[in-house]
Order: sequence, then C-alpha cells, then structure tokens
Amino acid sequence: MSTAATTLVPARPKGRLGLAAYAAFAALVVALAVGVPTNGYVLNILMQAATFSIVVFGLTVVLGLCGQINLAQAAFFGFGAYAVGLGTTDWGGPFWLWLAVGMVLATAMGALLGASTLRLGGHYLAMVTISFQQIVTLVLINWLPVTKGPDGVGNIPRPAPFLEAHVYLGLCVAILAVVGYLVWRLPDTKLGRAMRAIRDNELAASVAGIDAYKVKVTAFAISALLGGLGGGLFAGGFAYISPDQFSFAESVIFLTMVLLGGVASPIGAVIGTSLLILIPEWLRFLKSIPGLYLAIYGAAVILIVLFMPDGIYGFVRARLERWRRPVARPGNAAALTLSGGGSAGAGTVLELSALAKHFGGLKAVDGVDLAIRRGGVHALIGPNGSGKTTTLNVISGLSRATGGQVRLDGRDITQLPAHARTQAGLGRTFQNIRLWRSMTALENVMIGAERPGSAVANDAAALEERARAALAFVGLDGRADEPIARFSYGHQRAIEIARALAADPTLLLLDEPGAGLNSTEKVELRDLLRRISARGLTILIIDHDMTLVSEVAEHITVLNFGRRIADGYSADVLKHPDVVAAYLGTAPDAPA
Ligand code: ADP
Ligand code: MG
Repeated sequence: MSTAATTLVPARPKGRLGLAAYAAFAALVVALAVGVPTNGYVLNILMQAATFSIVVFGLTVVLGLCGQINLAQAAFFGFGAYAVGLGTTDWGGPFWLWLAVGMVLATAMGALLGASTLRLGGHYLAMVTISFQQIVTLVLINWLPVTKGPDGVGNIPRPAPFLEAHVYLGLCVAILAVVGYLVWRLPDTKLGRAMRAIRDNELAASVAGIDAYKVKVTAFAISALLGGLGGGLFAGGFAYISPDQFSFAESVIFLTMVLLGGVASPIGAVIGTSLLILIPEWLRFLKSIPGLYLAIYGAAVILIVLFMPDGIYGFVRARLERWRRPVARPGNAAALTLSGGGSAGAGTVLELSALAKHFGGLKAVDGVDLAIRRGGVHALIGPNGSGKTTTLNVISGLSRATGGQVRLDGRDITQLPAHARTQAGLGRTFQNIRLWRSMTALENVMIGAERPGSAVANDAAALEERARAALAFVGLDGRADEPIARFSYGHQRAIEIARALAADPTLLLLDEPGAGLNSTEKVELRDLLRRISARGLTILIIDHDMTLVSEVAEHITVLNFGRRIADGYSADVLKHPDVVAAYLGTAPDAPA
C-alpha cells in the first residue's frame, strides 16, 4: 500500500478525532484500491505490498517493540498461506474458516516456539528460529501427499464477494488498515509498554513487576499471528503458492523490510515493505547483466541502513521531533499516596536468614542474617566487593540464593521470580541507572505504577495521574514528557526512585543512589530520602557516603567479604573496631 507510505503521520493518532481521521483516510485508500483501474502488473505489486506489510507488522511488534529477533516469519506466513491454499482446494470449506485455521496454527506455533526458546535469548533465539524456519521449508517441499511439494498449490479461490481482484485488494488494504491501527496503538497500551521496557532493559522490566517471559512469548505469538494472517490473504490474492515463497531467504527479506523502513512503527513497516518490493522492479532493466543487479540492490540497502540506523521512518521522525518542544506542564500534580508505610518500629518488614550466594568458589554472600524494621532507613555498607549488590540482587530475585531465606512481611519469597517479588511489595533502584531510555520520564514511571494488583493498574487516567504524582514527589513535575536523555544524572536517579515509588512498595531498596552525584544533588537526595521516610516507607539503602548514611539511617549493617561484621544503631556501628578496620583497609578478621 504505497499510498500510505508517502503519508507521514508524525504522532500516534490519539482520541476519537485521530481515529476518525485515520478511518477516513483508510476508507479513501480502500476506495482507491477498489475503484482505480490498474493493469495486472501494478495490481500484483499492490497486492504483494498489502499482504507483506501485514506480515512485516508482526516484526514491528516482536522486534521493534519487544526487541526479540524472529527469523522464521516466512514460516508463519507459510502456515497461513498453506492453510488457505490446501484448505480451500483439497479439503473443502470456506476461505474464512481456513484463514482462521491458518492464523490459529501460526499463533500456536509461534507461542510454542517462543515458549521453548525465549528463556535463551540473543543468539540462541536467532538460531532456533532459523532451524524452525528450515524445518518448515523442508516439510513444505518433501511432504508431497499433503503439501504437493515443490509444485505448490494452485487455483486457490477467493471468497465472495471479493472474487474480483481489485475488490480483494480493497479487502486486504482494509485489513492492513485495521491491523496497522492496532499495531500503531500498541506501544501505548499496558502490553506495549511492557514490551518496550523489555526491549530497553529487561532486568529493569522484571524488577518493575513485568513477567518478561510471558510478554516475550505473547509478542512472538502476535508476530506469528500476523504472519499467518498475511499468508492467508496472500494465498487468496495470488491463487498460487509454492515452498520457495516461505523460505529462510523470505524471512531475511521480511527482516530487511522492517529494518529498512523503521522497526519501531507500522509506518516504517509499510515504507520498508513497499520499497523492497519496488526496488527490484526499478532495477529490472539491470537484470540482463548478472550480478550487477544484486550488487546495486545490496548497496542500496546497506547505504540506507548505514545512514539511517533507525530506518527511513525513524530518520524522518527524528527530524520532525526536533521541531516539537515538550510542553512544560504546571506543577499541579496530585499528592502521591504511599500505603506501604507503617509506624516506625512496628515489626519486621524484611528478614534474611543465613542468606548465601556463591559464584563458583566465591562466596559473595556468606550466611547473612538481617532484620529490617518497619518505617525507617536501614543502611547496608561495606567495602567494594563485599557483597552488598549481590545481597540486593538475591533479595529482589535477580539472582537465586544459594542458601538461606528471604521473608517479606513474614512471607517466604526466596523462590519467587523478580517480577513476583515486585508484586509482593519490593521496589528497587540500581547501582548503574536502569531506565528505559527510549521512553519519556512519565512512561518510565507509569510502568512502575502498573504493578499488577495496584489500585491504578487497570485505569489509564489514574495510572498517569499516579505517575505524575510520583514525579512531582521527587521534584520533577513539569518535565514528565521529556525523554530520559534530557535529564541530568542526578535527575535520572530521581526518576528511578519515582518509578519504584509509583508501584507503592512495602520496602524500597536503593543501591548506591548517591554514587556519581555532586554535592547539591546529594543534598537533594538526602531530602528526598527524608521525605520518603517521613511517609513511613521502609528503605534499605546501600551507599559509600558516610555523611549521607549517618544523616538518614538509624540502623546500619556492615558487610565484609560477604559476611556481616556489624549490625545495630548507626552511631554504635560506625565506631565498631571491625568496621573501622574494614574501612581503613587494615587486615580484616573475616576469612577471605
Ligand atoms: P558490592 O556491591 O558490595 O561492591 P558485589 O555484591 O557487587 O559487591 O560483589 C561481591 C563479590 O561477588 C565481588 O567479588 C564480585 O566480583 C562478585 N560477583 C558479583 N556478581 C558476580 C557474578 N555475577 N559472577 C561472579 N562473581 C560475581
Ligand atoms: Mg555494589
């Protein structure tokens, strides 16, 4: 659908007006597709562009939004095409039934493939999808009695009333428009935000309460579903299919299409798809000189990818963004409610017993006992490499304990995955800031507020209000809609804290929030910690700055070589001879 490709819509259509405008535009394009007489050649190109674009939308979701590679999209495309092809010709039954069967089949295979491989990630995922693709191709070629092998399937009928080619094209364009709209809106839904969070920083996503595995499998299934849909429509459009149309090479072409056009938006998918269909046509006159055609084609693709790493649409989008200044909103955010607090000293929030984490022979955490009382600031200190971050990772579920127990509010959470611990009431920040850098401050904090089970999780307006309140709480109201890169280091730390606070945690874990801050920022941090603490929220803080620690913490636990060497009221602990020794670097009495 090259008409849409040249129409740049700079923002996602919002609200009823946007939807109405989009629907009117789509209706116009459908009318043009049906009404404008074209020759068979042009018609074929349009049909291919419309159906392929739907397939490539799948990659917009799985790769563009969720950051997972899928090199088997042609196989899912094939499931849809063969279901319609074989179903309508060999087995009988209506087109729509077989289209649905193809989509269900593709989705199921996508979910299965995703479920079995998405724990691997990275290169393994790419390899497994390639293998899957090859197996599907082999089956299509060799399972002669069913697939008819290399001969392919012909005489595939179109459904009434879409028998005529232009009318069928109109149908494909209409479906393209609907799917395109959904994919366009997806980034601003809860699922879409979760996908983007995983793409930007998966660790931070799971700590924000997102079940990364489930979301990735869902993304894969959606991608396969769109592959199947496009395939079914393709079969009806061309009436003939054969295995070579669903080969690994096709999967690579789909991938190139989405990367070329811009992986992050369905507009990019349509641009890339149209271009990769058209470029070979434009270069057709070169076909008489073997090799030259491929060289020019390859060079063109490489040049575009080289100079436009975000694809063509990404490139244009970035140029447009320059003209769009974020609107500073007046600071009228609501007050942030924090229900996880309690009166100081009322029982234990977190209890570690004999907690251990070994990396091979290295005992990073070596039998640590710790009790954190409700409502107050508890500091965990110790020299570099003493096991503080590892302790925090084991508490928040980023690494599994080798031994011992973690209890939150009396509940044993030792075996829970990270996202479930967040749902249980843990919030944390990281020693190295882990924000989702492609998103705005508001979006980052909204994902925090989206914690399942929270009061606002399913109410978009309340969610945004809570996120704005959390940003206001850390002193950043008015800048909510700016991208992360515009914020200073200190403010990025504040946004991370706001993200954790938005989830309304029972216990806030802060890993060196003061690291890298200048003296003004440190004072701001101290005041922020005091404000949080004043709300009754319990904080466990790691920091090297003894001034900050002694100013905010009532209790201190000291680690050295993975062991607890001191624990108690701040003033006492800081005078403890072992602590002084560990900090001044004299020989520690703990075994190495
Ligand atoms: P701290 O935060 O107190 O500076 P860490 O908890 O980061 O210390 O590290 C404690 C020890 O565990 C260090 O010796 C570190 O090298 C080691 N360590 C931490 N993470 C890993 C890991 N994933 N694999 C192996 N060793 C690790
Ligand atoms: Mg550390």
